[in-house]
Amino acid sequence: MLDIQGAQRFHGHMCPGLAIGIRAAEIALCEIGAHSADEEIVALVETDMCGVDAIQYLTGCTFGKGNLIHLDYGKSAFTFIRRSDGKAIRIVARPNAFGEPNPEHQTLLARVQSGQATAEERARLQTLHQQRAQQILNAPLEQLFDVQRVTTRAPARARLMQSLTCEACGEQTMETRTRRLAGRTLCIPCFQAPEQR
Ligand SMILES: [Zn+2]
Ligand SMILES: [Zn+2]
Repeated sequence: MLDIQGAQRFHGHMCPGLAIGIRAAEIALCEIGAHSADEEIVALVETDMCGVDAIQYLTGCTFGKGNLIHLDYGKSAFTFIRRSDGKAIRIVARPNAFGEPNPEHQTLLARVQSGQATAEERARLQTLHQQRAQQILNAPLEQLFDVQRVTTRAPARARLMQSLTCEACGEQTMETRTRRLAGRTLCIPCFQAPEQR
């Protein structure tokens, strides 16, 4: 059983984006399995929106473990790779996965975003939002996603890196993230600061 309540608690609310992430995780868990101590799974997510919280909560691929990698492509697409045998799938939301365009929804959204909406309009938008999320939770998976077998390789495991001291701000910085400028070792913000140039 998918812990949908748990994913909702983790994210803070139910919304269509979270619902898409929950359903994508459902496919991943079935085809690839969950991340665990003896079965390492890596997720590459092409969005940083709501759905990624469901991916993290349900599959065990998280930023902190280094097995969740964000590719900033702005797509509802999620690749899962199992290290043990290299099996990899890419799950892509279909164009209508979030539901057919609804003029009422779009009008309300524009009103709310402009800050002009009444409490009633805001409540109505919430209702539509929740209905859409429920539709996504109940839809057949093949209606929501295309699933492709891919040959994407898992990136190298995160290694413990040595830290160096930035010579401008004095903060410890992972060696691979330091920059050299005029013979000095700097962290990225100091390297980019105009007074160093
Ligand atoms: Zn959300
Ligand atoms: Zn610095």
